[in-house]
Amino acid sequence: MSRAWLIGAGPGDVELMTLKATRALGEADVVLVDDLVNPDVLQFARTDAEVVYVGKRGGQPSASQADIVATMLAHLRAGRSVARLKGGDPFVFGRGGEEQQALRAEGIQVEIINGITAGIAAPAAIGIPVTHRDHAQGVVFVTGHGAGSSEPDWNALVATRMTLVVYMGMRRLNEIVTALLQAGMDPQTPCAAIESATRPEQRHVLAQLDTLAGHVASAGLGSPAIVVIGGVSAHGIPSASHDR
Ligand code: SAH
Repeated sequence: MSRAWLIGAGPGDVELMTLKATRALGEADVVLVDDLVNPDVLQFARTDAEVVYVGKRGGQPSASQADIVATMLAHLRAGRSVARLKGGDPFVFGRGGEEQQALRAEGIQVEIINGITAGIAAPAAIGIPVTHRDHAQGVVFVTGHGAGSSEPDWNALVATRMTLVVYMGMRRLNEIVTALLQAGMDPQTPCAAIESATRPEQRHVLAQLDTLAGHVASAGLGSPAIVVIGGVSAHGIPSASHDR
């Protein structure tokens, strides 16, 4: 029987992949790979596996969700096992939920294999715990991508006083910071931005909320990056340059 897996490849460092993920990858006939997945993880795939890149590689637009699901279905119906590899965890901002729904609608049960999400791994890579009894009783994972009606309710988030971990927040960083300040967050709140966490090219800045966007711009940080907002960021290891 052919099998379908939705696999989290973790944040980048190959050693942060789970044993279960590497085993499933080693069984798959076909592997569909997203942009943020470190290609080095393909060392765990069979040498004869068919590898399909569905992200925005080589300037090509990324494949649509419908096309990705259609490709998976075609292989599964032909009796081939399919591993769908996603960066971080497949169920955290990875559209894994949508793919699971689409496959279930076709009567296919997909096995979920968790990965370490960037929202935990990136802060940890520079010494930031996302919770800490002295600073935060919880953590909120939020996308910075939304605008208009899908904009997170920043006022409500500030009121939680929890650590905010922002995915996909770099493009709209100025607007996010402005919204948080308007919601009454302390301008001196410690913050961090970590780009390409757990990879050799990892870089980061530490700053206060009111200087964050400027520091990120002068350091030239871009995507993929995680932004951490909250007292826990004070535990971040200073980077060689750009800080404060
Ligand atoms: N499913 C993924 C998230 C996909 S959304 C996960 O669980 O990690 C894509 C966003 O994830 C990026 O815009 C960035 O905010 C974050 N991201 C993924 N990998 C990252 C990395 N190695 N370093 C920093 N941020 C990363």
